[in-house]
Amino acid sequence: MSSSSPSQHSQASTSSDAQAAPPMLDWLPDDTPRYVCAECGAHLALQDEIISKAFSGRDGKAYLFSSTLNTSLGASEDRHLLTGIHTVCDLSCKGCGKTLGWFYLKAWEHSQKYKEGKSIMEKVALEKVNAW
Ligand SMILES: [Zn+2]
Repeated sequence: MSSSSPSQHSQASTSSDAQAAPPMLDWLPDDTPRYVCAECGAHLALQDEIISKAFSGRDGKAYLFSSTLNTSLGASEDRHLLTGIHTVCDLSCKGCGKTLGWFYLKAWEHSQKYKEGKSIMEKVALEKVNAW
């Protein structure tokens, strides 16, 4: 039983000059229910950050997260989805470089605005870690 609520959301930290170093990964406390990279085990999101599980990715089910960690973004592009035009970036794991899903930079339809700044990660790319 832990009463600590993880509330710090680390945004892309612009560390002064640590460029040649290997990717610095953030790690959640061991007792935090979380999703990790199925490939390399990097912590990707808190279970609490899931907004919806009703999304589909390229390979099946995908989840919408309000924030992620240890991910990096690719170039942005406009995609025509069922729900209208969205400007998205590929979202990949900072640990192993695997593409996990995408990030919604902008949604052009009013009804889809809630997705802006949110991330989609495919279920197959994730592994769930239950901490009790
Ligand atoms: Zn990974």
